[in-house]
Amino acid sequence: MQINRRNLFKVGMGVGAGFLAKTVGLGAVGATETSSSFEVMKTDEEWKAQLTPMQYRVLRHEDTEPPFKNAYNDNKAKGVYECAGCQLPLFSSDTKYDSKTGWPSFWKPVSDTAVKTKTDWVLLYSRTEVHCRRCGGHLGHIFDDGPQPTGLRYCINSASLKFVPA
Ligand code: FE
Repeated sequence: MQINRRNLFKVGMGVGAGFLAKTVGLGAVGATETSSSFEVMKTDEEWKAQLTPMQYRVLRHEDTEPPFKNAYNDNKAKGVYECAGCQLPLFSSDTKYDSKTGWPSFWKPVSDTAVKTKTDWVLLYSRTEVHCRRCGGHLGHIFDDGPQPTGLRYCINSASLKFVPA
């Protein structure tokens, strides 16, 4: 990944998460390290055919969509955010909040088993990457500057989600 202004912004945000992962661990909220085997497995060509180009880049190649210029950052409607890859319910509007980062942010997933995590070394330090438990699709990252009661910020790409109004 090229270092540009957007990535430098993420560097600043990510320092705390590395600290969190090393000190208290994220297992306390049900997110756990995982393998590369998933319930829903498709070939790269199948994913490319099924997803939009942006969904494909984010879900399958861990890309990050632009802040603010994305579908759900400002969405305040009640409903459930499903995985855009496999339709597993991932987040509820009840735990969505405005983190001012430009990406949809939640303080916890819809259940303890909806998402899993791995350590991401894409940049110069470790971050906690979060992905769909069922298809392994990349969603975003977890940081430790979220609101109570968890203190966590699930910083999620809109492109990895499909909103289903209540
Ligand atoms: Fe999924």
